[in-house]
Amino acid sequence: MLCARRLGGLRAGLRVRRVSTRWSPVGAAFTVQPQGRRLDRPGERGGLFGVPELSAPEGFRVAQEKALRKTEQLVRRVCTTPPGPWTVLIFDELSDSLCRVADLADFVKIAHPEVAFREAAEEACRSIGTMVEKLNTNVELYQSLQRLLADKKLVDSLDPETRRVAELFMFDFEISGIHLDREKRKRAVDLNVKILDLSSAFLMGTHFPNTIGKHLLPERIWHHFELAGDHVVVDSLRAEAPDDLVREAAYKIFLYPNAGQLKRLEELLSSRDLLAKLVGYPTYSHRALQGTIAQSPETVMEFLEKLSDRLSERTMKDFEMIRGMKMKLNPQNSELMPWDPPYYSGLIRAERFNIEPSLYCPFFSLGACMEGLSLLFNRLLGVSLYGEQPAKGEVWSEDVRKLAVVHESEGLLGYIYCDFFQRADKPHQDCHFTIRGGRLKEDGDYQLPVVVLMLNLPQSSRNLPTLLTPGMMENLFHEMGHAMHSMLGRTRYQHVTGTRCPTDFAEVPSILMEYFANDYRVVHQFARHYQTGQSLPRNMVSRLCESKKVCAAADMQLQVFYAALDQIYHGKHPLQSSTTDILRDTQERFYGLPYVPNTAWQLRFSHLVGYGAKYYSYLMSRAVASMVWRECFRQDPFNRAAGERYRREMLAHGGGREPMLMVQGMLQKCPSIDDFVNTLVSDLDLDFETFLMDST
Ligand SMILES: [Zn+2]
Repeated sequence: MLCARRLGGLRAGLRVRRVSTRWSPVGAAFTVQPQGRRLDRPGERGGLFGVPELSAPEGFRVAQEKALRKTEQLVRRVCTTPPGPWTVLIFDELSDSLCRVADLADFVKIAHPEVAFREAAEEACRSIGTMVEKLNTNVELYQSLQRLLADKKLVDSLDPETRRVAELFMFDFEISGIHLDREKRKRAVDLNVKILDLSSAFLMGTHFPNTIGKHLLPERIWHHFELAGDHVVVDSLRAEAPDDLVREAAYKIFLYPNAGQLKRLEELLSSRDLLAKLVGYPTYSHRALQGTIAQSPETVMEFLEKLSDRLSERTMKDFEMIRGMKMKLNPQNSELMPWDPPYYSGLIRAERFNIEPSLYCPFFSLGACMEGLSLLFNRLLGVSLYGEQPAKGEVWSEDVRKLAVVHESEGLLGYIYCDFFQRADKPHQDCHFTIRGGRLKEDGDYQLPVVVLMLNLPQSSRNLPTLLTPGMMENLFHEMGHAMHSMLGRTRYQHVTGTRCPTDFAEVPSILMEYFANDYRVVHQFARHYQTGQSLPRNMVSRLCESKKVCAAADMQLQVFYAALDQIYHGKHPLQSSTTDILRDTQERFYGLPYVPNTAWQLRFSHLVGYGAKYYSYLMSRAVASMVWRECFRQDPFNRAAGERYRREMLAHGGGREPMLMVQGMLQKCPSIDDFVNTLVSDLDLDFETFLMDST
């Protein structure tokens, strides 16, 4: 579809790097405003992402009907074909035809500026979702896969990737209880529906504001909140507010328990537990952790407990430091409370290191940062980024840039659409969307991956390019790490393309990019003052890196506490006590600051929905990324051999290989939980060299 023809030409024809005339260097693509109108070649007026039907919102219906028809054909085909490796291939094609519409629509429904497009996309998501549910309970379809997996001789003849993908498809089936008797299957379906409803209701409740009578708060802080008649409305924790009383009030009011939300959470957790047991697991956590790096709840708890023990002394020191700062500013009331750390640690950072973002921004123009990324990928992986002019109707907003990702010998690898700039109604989150997965097609061509990166950067103006704060620059590197995971994957099946891998592995490539973004040797290559051309001084980079370590133990300790809470909630049921009592005990054990009576933070823990039993993933991904950085890139961040190994052992497989095997292949050893803990703790050490350099 999108670029099949061009791909053929490139793959056959290009052995050396050659730049298409429609491509421009990546820096220019982000520095120069797009010129004139989009190309509108006759007969090629494309729709969104080059999908012809999507030139108008009504096209979604056409695309979705086409997908549903193709699905029916494929279902018939797989059910009437004897089992073999092709069974997996047809399953993957089936999944591809649905995902291609659903993933694209998933993005469009939240990001398109036009309501009509968003609504049409929403409708497409719904109808494909219904189809997926139907397929997951289609016994005939299930049996065709079952016949393959039950035949030991056949299974042994499958290559590891095919076998893994077959098992992953089976795993999806089993949660709907398809392998159970009729009565149990009905219960599984009912539970799935209930969990879906409870999840969205709980999620909504996590953002819901709380109100309190005005007269209960001192008048001097009223103006910090929204007022509604006689009431004060509190819709967030106000963690950065300088006034202690504002943060305290926000904390106590926003976290005041809501009976309905409490009930929703309890029901959600117990329904998940019932479903897991019904389909054969001891707890929900056991099911969620199948196929991950950690593999079992026991390993996750071991990781969290060891990490917590190793952190505790450093955390206490951080708390002391934060308490000292509070005492200095507010001697009458210097007891350290849970609403204090974010604000005071920010103050300490600013006081110790002169890291005002405006000092850094001029060195991080978006064009320079993109050049830096292209250069890094080029030296590490032989890959370059080029700006490409999209066709008319291909993008949803004029400021979206399209990047072609080109390998020096393999040619075009895929496309990244960069939706980087703020606009009205655009969700305020940085994220990566898979629009189309890579897969080997039956005709031998490779279906190129297509992704969107969404950021919220300020627009450039006539005399000022888009300038990034250090935080935005790091985010850009992080998100590009996800994009390159998608681009460099060469999985046979789109079901495991790029970032479609276990949750605790998914953040490894992106967090690894943060290590590059914080290394002077890398930053030095691209950070230039947009007016003077001067490069960013070395001590400014060091200062920035060291500032991030201030109170970092306390921050990590908080994450450990959240992750442990998530494990316990999704562990053995019935729970030993109320979710609030568990919160209190876990906070004491894993954090260290006192629980505040009449609060229930867990009711605002929105990640319980999407990351149920996997909240630890971010910490574990960070541990792996840190080890990869230390073992393979720290000595030379441009080491081509290490870069090639990184692609071969990790990125190329997407989710098609067991994650621990990828980690082992990369590190050339099998890391233990202690290794994970050690590397995370070592990252908190101050760099002595920097310290000396700065004090002279
Ligand atoms: Zn990420």
